[in-house]
Amino acid sequence: MPNVFDIVTADGFEQVAYCHDEASGLRAIVAIHSTALGPSLGGTRFYPYVSETEALVDVCRLAKGMTYKHAVCGNDLGGGKAVILGDPGTLRSEALLRAYGRFVEGLSGRYLTAEDVGTTQADMDVIQRETAFVTGVSESLGGSGDPSPATAWGVLWSMKAVAERLWGAPSLNGRHVCISGVGKVGAALAEHLATEGAKLTVADVDVVATDTVAERLGASTVAPETAHTVACDIFSPCALGAVLNPTTVPELRCDAVVGCANNQLAGPTDAERLRHRGIVYAPDFVANAGGVMNIAEEPHGYDRQRAWDRIATIHDTLLRVFDRAEADGTTTAAAADRLAEERIASVSHTRLIRTHR
Ligand code: NAD
Repeated sequence: MPNVFDIVTADGFEQVAYCHDEASGLRAIVAIHSTALGPSLGGTRFYPYVSETEALVDVCRLAKGMTYKHAVCGNDLGGGKAVILGDPGTLRSEALLRAYGRFVEGLSGRYLTAEDVGTTQADMDVIQRETAFVTGVSESLGGSGDPSPATAWGVLWSMKAVAERLWGAPSLNGRHVCISGVGKVGAALAEHLATEGAKLTVADVDVVATDTVAERLGASTVAPETAHTVACDIFSPCALGAVLNPTTVPELRCDAVVGCANNQLAGPTDAERLRHRGIVYAPDFVANAGGVMNIAEEPHGYDRQRAWDRIATIHDTLLRVFDRAEADGTTTAAAADRLAEERIASVSHTRLIRTHR
């Protein structure tokens, strides 16, 4: 058994809650990293972890990442995440999801849940029957629905910011973009880029996915193992993490990397590697924040146009990240971290100003 308090103390977690319901087989961990900016929000990952330690380490890592993602994109939300231990294919049931919803309810709004790997929008609809502290439920139930189109919209605006920085104008017309992973986000991004007049190359382990995009949008295709080596203006990782590593970074033949995949850098030194090669890197948690910015609109009564307008501000956020990296002589990843930390420190400080009712 890991020393939970060591893990919690090392990264300043506020709370880690273990949930257990024997009847349904539910074993879940909710990690609340920070509520400095607002209630913590992050998805519920349903995954067959090999050990409880692995699940704890993962949920804590993901929750901390959410703190930074919300902070840098301007959400009034904190970092949290949850994991349900087990195979969703065999363990998922109405009883388990409702039991989980009751635990989320018991956290009294300190943690708001959402969809993640292994959970679906339909699961969120079931969880909503037990708690109001759930986001991303179906639009018919008052939610914002699947966040993928919003994420794709945010990545598009990230690319426009990069274009402005590199080529002096936000236009992507005639620019060559290579997208690795044309799933929910990647395919929606490809549509936007085609509308913008970009030239597309796409890769995916699923041949049907690449063929569909190629046929629909006239994109070229490439094998997924070599997608990062394609000579292009922007390489867009939209599948797995750790695609930017000591092997792949020297092989890149692009001016910029802008994608939706989480944890694109295998390690912090890979951001330095990109900088030394003169490749502009849009930090993943800035570029892919469209989904959580969309969800953040739910408590105000979801309005798609308002959400879309806010997501487009990722463009300005990224330009601030680039300016800060230049001013500090650091990587864009480090600059984005600093901006997030500064917002948390300054905004949470205003809570010291008391009101009397
Ligand atoms: P998805 O599962 O719909 O699509 C992923 C695609 O990548 C699939 O088509 C899959 O076949 C393909 N793929 C898998 N391995 C590959 C490989 N080695 N090379 C190339 N392609 C490969 O997922 P998604 O919702 O589009 O999300 C994509 C990424 O973006 C994930 O890392 C996810 O965590 C991240 N992300 C998604 C959202 C969102 O709103 N969906 C928000 C933030 C971050």
